Amino acid sequence: MKAIDLEIFSPVTQITHPLLSQKQVRLFIKRDDLIHPVISGNKWRKLKYILQKARNESKNHLVTFGGAYSNHLLATAAAGALFGFKTTGFVRGEDVENDHLFLCRLYGMQLLFTDRGSYRDKPNLFNQTFGSDADAFFIDEGGASHEAAKGCSELVAELTETYNHLFCACGTGTTAAGIVNGITEHSLTTQFHAVPVFKNGGFIADEIARYLTIPASSYQLHLDYHFGGYAKTTPDLIAFIREFIALTGMLIDPVYTGKMLYAIFDLLAKGYFTPGSKILAVHTGGIWGLLGMKEKFSVISK
Ligand SMILES: *Cc1c(COP(=O)(O)O)cnc(C)c1O
Repeated sequence: MKAIDLEIFSPVTQITHPLLSQKQVRLFIKRDDLIHPVISGNKWRKLKYILQKARNESKNHLVTFGGAYSNHLLATAAAGALFGFKTTGFVRGEDVENDHLFLCRLYGMQLLFTDRGSYRDKPNLFNQTFGSDADAFFIDEGGASHEAAKGCSELVAELTETYNHLFCACGTGTTAAGIVNGITEHSLTTQFHAVPVFKNGGFIADEIARYLTIPASSYQLHLDYHFGGYAKTTPDLIAFIREFIALTGMLIDPVYTGKMLYAIFDLLAKGYFTPGSKILAVHTGGIWGLLGMKEKFSVISK
């Protein structure tokens, strides 16, 4: 059986931008989006130890949960196919078809559309549907777990330089917690910044706290870059993403990395970083998310 591992290709690349030169700040991107075209970014790091656990317990059927545009569902479908697992995804909401779900099916994932009420109780859904399947292995929405945080902490060990600031977009907060653990384990002086992509993202502090393995040094939460809520955008955000992609040749998405990078450039413009600072932003992948938002971009181009 194929070992559950991928060779990590995630170089650090520097971004050039007039505002960065003007403020004498250097910005680097940890290219986790290059780890795999579909199991990209933090989704591979999050799945690695979860899949190893499933394999150790001889469970050959991954069962997980997500919305119709979930990067986690897609990553699980792809990783399942790559490493020889059967996969099932409970999809929140009514039966729809889109690019994400098309790819999930292509990788062989069985999709079970679930009304929002039943979707809330995931362990119950799992037990009702797969309680008698000895092969079935429960993976929470977004992969949130201690295994996932452990996988994400490994990002820090790959760094060959020390940065003053490290930024990451937050959904469940698991990736952020993993990176904070990594920073603490390596006794780095790097200041960590979490950018929640939800409205009222303050709850993320509790989520992060759940996955901290060691009492952590403090980190910054930036709650003002949600642009109206999860997967919501504004013309300003879309314009920023357009400019960033055209200027750097690097794709970013409107749900996660676009918001995090907007936050960095907004803070930069406001003089938040002292001259000489070195910032590292984690590109957590998710560029397929662009495909679900094509119309938002076309409105602007008219
Ligand atoms: C899922 C995802 C995140 C959020 O990761 P969490 O560990 O849930 O906080 C960030 N960026 C991208 C691109 C994602 O797909």
